[in-house]
Amino acid sequence: MTRCPTCAHENDEFATVCTNCRAFLQNRVPNLNLFETSWGILESPRRTFRTIALAEHKNYALFLFCGFGVAVSFTVFWYLRLGVFFHTLMDVLPFAFAAGLALGLLSAVLLTFLYHGVVRMLGSPRKVKQSYAMLAYALVPIVLSVIVVLPIELMTFGMFLFTSNPNPAVIKPASFYILISLDALAALWTIILAVKGTRIIHGFTAPRAVLAVGIVLAILLGTFFVGSDWILVLMEKAL
Ligand SMILES: [Zn+2]
Repeated sequence: MTRCPTCAHENDEFATVCTNCRAFLQNRVPNLNLFETSWGILESPRRTFRTIALAEHKNYALFLFCGFGVAVSFTVFWYLRLGVFFHTLMDVLPFAFAAGLALGLLSAVLLTFLYHGVVRMLGSPRKVKQSYAMLAYALVPIVLSVIVVLPIELMTFGMFLFTSNPNPAVIKPASFYILISLDALAALWTIILAVKGTRIIHGFTAPRAVLAVGIVLAILLGTFFVGSDWILVLMEKAL
C-alpha cells in the first residue's frame, strides 16, 4: 500500500495518483520500450517488474507470447521427432513457425487465465492485466533463446534436429549438449523470473510465489505430455 502524502489515504502500491484527492504519488509510466524493458528484466528484475506493473500500456506483451509459442512449437517438433512427416527443413520451418504463432496467441489467453486464477486463489488483489504483463516479460529469456539459440541449432543440425536417424546427439554431441543446455538455462531463468515477478507484482511471500508458479508449471507440463500423444495421433491421421 502507498499512503497519500496529502490526505493519508491508503492507495494501491502501483497507483500513480491518490484515489481520494488526486494528489501525485509516483511517476507515470505510459508505455514500455521493448529493448529497455527486456534488458531491464535480465539485469534488474525487481525494479523492472515494478515499472511493468506501473505501465499504463503493457506494450509488446503479445509479441513476447508469440516468441514463447514458437519456442514451444519447435520443442514439440524436436521432442516428438515430427520431422518424419516432412520432406525437407524448408517444409518444416513455415509449419512450425505458423503453429508457434497460433500457440503464442492461445497461450497469451490460456496461460494468463490459468496463472491469474492460481494467484487469485492464493489471495492476489491484482487485475488480470498485471498477470498478463508479468508473464510476458518473464518469458524474455525463452524468447531470447528463440532469437539466438534456435537459428544456431537449425544451422548446425538442419533436419536432423527433428528426426532421430541419426540422432542430433550422435552427429555433434558437444554442440548438441551445449545448445540444449542453453535452452534449458533459458527455461530455468524464465521460471526464476516468474517467481520474482509474482512476489513483486502480486505482493506474495517467496514460498507463496514458488507455490503459485509450481502449480502453473505442473499443469503446463501435464498438458504438454498429454498433448504430445494427441499431436502424434493427429499428425499420423492428417499426413
Ligand atoms: Zn490523497
